[in-house]
Amino acid sequence: MANYIDLHTHSTASDGIYSPTELLQRAKDIGLRVLALTDHDSSDGIDEASQAAASLDIDFIPGIEINTDVNGGEVHMLGYFIEYQLPAFQAVLKVLRDARERRGQRMVELLNEQGVSIAWEKVREIAQGAVGRPHVAKALLEAGYVQTIGEAFDKYIGTGRPAYVPRYKLSPVDAVHLIASANGLPVMAHPVELPGLEELRNWLPELCEAGLVGLETYYGPYTSEQEQALLALANEYKLIPTGGTDFHGPGIHPTPLGGRYVPYDAVERLKAAAEERRGKTPPAFELPPPVEEK
Ligand SMILES: [Zn+2]
Ligand SMILES: [Zn+2]
Repeated sequence: MANYIDLHTHSTASDGIYSPTELLQRAKDIGLRVLALTDHDSSDGIDEASQAAASLDIDFIPGIEINTDVNGGEVHMLGYFIEYQLPAFQAVLKVLRDARERRGQRMVELLNEQGVSIAWEKVREIAQGAVGRPHVAKALLEAGYVQTIGEAFDKYIGTGRPAYVPRYKLSPVDAVHLIASANGLPVMAHPVELPGLEELRNWLPELCEAGLVGLETYYGPYTSEQEQALLALANEYKLIPTGGTDFHGPGIHPTPLGGRYVPYDAVERLKAAAEERRGKTPPAFELPPPVEEK
C-alpha cells in the first residue's frame, strides 16, 4: 500500500540529521503528501519546514515531541498543530532545552573525572540543535572510547551507568498540559515500549482526562498485532490513531522516511480537532520545579 503520510519526523532542530529543508525535499522525492515535523522540545525547525513545504506543495503540520520521565524510563508526547509562537510556550521550551544542555555538560564532566577525555565543545558541535545523549555517545565514538553508539550507552551514559545524569523531569500529564497550552493536540508517541500495553490501560484515563487526543498506532517497526492492539485501545478511549516513522536520518531508526502506512483518516481527524481549538484562549501551563541534578 502506497503511503503519503508521515506524522513523526526529526530535523537538525533536535537530533535529526537533515535540516528542515532537506527533510522536506526528501519527503517530496519519495512522494509524501503530508508531513509533520516533531522535533524534541523544539519548534525551531517549523518556520523553515513550513516554507519548504509550501514551495514543494506538501501539506505540513507543525508539531513537537516532548520527552517526559516515568519510573524506569521515558514517555514521549507528540503535539500537533501547536501555536508555537506563543511566548509562554517558547519560554517553557527554553527552560527544558537549557536543562538538557546542563545535563550534557554534567555528563561530560563525569566522563572527564573518569579519565575519558571528550570536550563539551565537541558534543555541542555534534549536536547543533538540542543536546541529547546520542551526541555524547557520538563524541565517545569519534574519540575512540567505544566502537558503537550502543556501547557508549552500555558502558557510560545509559541509565545507571557511571556517567548517567538524570534530567529535568516532566510527567506525561505535564506534557499533555504543555501542548494544550499552545492549543496543540497531544498524542502519545510509540506507546508500546513503555509502560507496556497492559500498564498503558491504567494510564489512559488520567491522560485522557488531561486532554490526550491521540495514540501513535502506525509506528515505524510495530507489528500488525501491536497495531491492532493499539487500534483497539484508541477506539476504546476515543483517541485518534496516528502514525509515522520517527525518521531521524538514514540508519538511525529502522524505518525509512514515509516507510509506514498511515491512513488519511488520521490527518482528517487531527485537522478537525485542531479546527475546533483554533483561536481559543489556551489554558495556562505552570512548569513544575526542576529536579536538582547531583
Ligand atoms: Zn520518541
Ligand atoms: Zn521521535
